[in-house]
Amino acid sequence: MEIVKFGHPCLRRKSTPLEEISPELKATVRRMFALMYEARGIGLAANQVGLPFRFFVVNPTADPEQSDEEMVFINPEIIRRKGSVDGEEGCLSLPELYGPVPRAEEIIVEAFDLDGQGFEMECSELMARVVQHENDHLDGVLFIDRMNEEELAHVQPQLEDFEKDYRRRQNEGKLPSDDEIIARLDSLQQSGSIPPVE
Ligand code: ZN
Repeated sequence: MEIVKFGHPCLRRKSTPLEEISPELKATVRRMFALMYEARGIGLAANQVGLPFRFFVVNPTADPEQSDEEMVFINPEIIRRKGSVDGEEGCLSLPELYGPVPRAEEIIVEAFDLDGQGFEMECSELMARVVQHENDHLDGVLFIDRMNEEELAHVQPQLEDFEKDYRRRQNEGKLPSDDEIIARLDSLQQSGSIPPVE
């Protein structure tokens, strides 16, 4: 398992809800936290590791020592949004690209945890931003999609570099073709279950 980069079709895929908390899901979540810490991130969505399912992991401290701050959101729904605030964002799938994104200032999110317990959480500040960013991933939406035209123009050269790099790695046979990736995503979504951790 690895964090996929801009250009990977899974980042543009609308994910399917999970129907069960399987041992594979638990193992996948552990691996996702490890990848997130390695990359010094504070959130990671399943799409970002090539899994088209609705869940993401968060630790706003980015610190593996503070594992009590870890949260898993399964089948999340943002049920309320209030206010709007701009803030700088980045994404582990678009390394070293940053820009201001407007988000709701406060939200209420409903989700299930790894024990299958439903919970509701009021989020503000950093947590509200992370949850909205990660939740967008599950719909195939990236933070660049929410940047204004002027800001997007600034990062356009970086996006083109990501695209070029992705195609180059495909041409060199280091990554599967889009058709192969899409076939795998289709079959994962049809099966409805998380595969064993690679
Ligand atoms: Zn992201």
